[in-house]
Amino acid sequence: MIHLKSEEEIELIRQSSLLVGKTLAEVAKIISPGVTTKAIDQRAEEFIRDNGAIPGFKGYNGFPYALCISINEVVVHGFPGMQEVKEGDIVSVDCGVLMNGFYGDSAFTFVIGDVDPTVQALVEATRESLNVGIEQAVVGNRIGDIGFAIQQFVELRGYSVVRDLVGHGLGRNLHESPEVPNYGRRGIGHRLQSGLVLAIEPMINLGGKAVIQERDGWTIRTADRKPSAHFEHDVVVRHGKAEVLSTFEFIDEVLKSRN
Ligand code: MG
Ligand code: MG
Repeated sequence: MIHLKSEEEIELIRQSSLLVGKTLAEVAKIISPGVTTKAIDQRAEEFIRDNGAIPGFKGYNGFPYALCISINEVVVHGFPGMQEVKEGDIVSVDCGVLMNGFYGDSAFTFVIGDVDPTVQALVEATRESLNVGIEQAVVGNRIGDIGFAIQQFVELRGYSVVRDLVGHGLGRNLHESPEVPNYGRRGIGHRLQSGLVLAIEPMINLGGKAVIQERDGWTIRTADRKPSAHFEHDVVVRHGKAEVLSTFEFIDEVLKSRN
């Protein structure tokens, strides 16, 4: 069952998505070699609660943390812990919040210091592929148009698209219908209507598309242990041009000032 959102509901999702962007900007301030992923998670949870929201992931299907922190070959759903971020890592930080009954959900892959140029290029292409997908989230298109655009963009550059995890609808629930695969065929799938809110989140691998779930029941890593990048925005389907509710603006500002 697909729920199209009213403008009032969209405003509330925008506020939640905005808080996620600001939380990720707090992460951007402290993510450096030597910092543990647990410390990053604690900072994010504190910031979310100080802003009157609750961490959207904590307790979701039993997930124990505020953030998913996924380093290098970990694709998504990595557990924060005593592992330290180090020079040369790429670190996907995925954050959700629940505020006023609505979720926001966004992810950003941070590059730590000097990263192998091929890995840097993967991260940049993944971020660009998100925008390519968002361009397709307009009235009259279908879900398959989003996935097709992302898949074509990254495969032309020699990367592969994770199949086992997908984007999703978003609202009063963190994961709503429809699923939003990052691969697909043009003109196939659910028809996009105005007011549909989607979390689009390409997970793109440097090597093969196959992934494995670790024994903790959550952590997803590439089968070939090559790096994977991940970016996610919350968008509303509109006529002519999708509207992006989440933002990387605050993150980019922090990263610029740190350089
Ligand atoms: Mg997410
Ligand atoms: Mg998501």
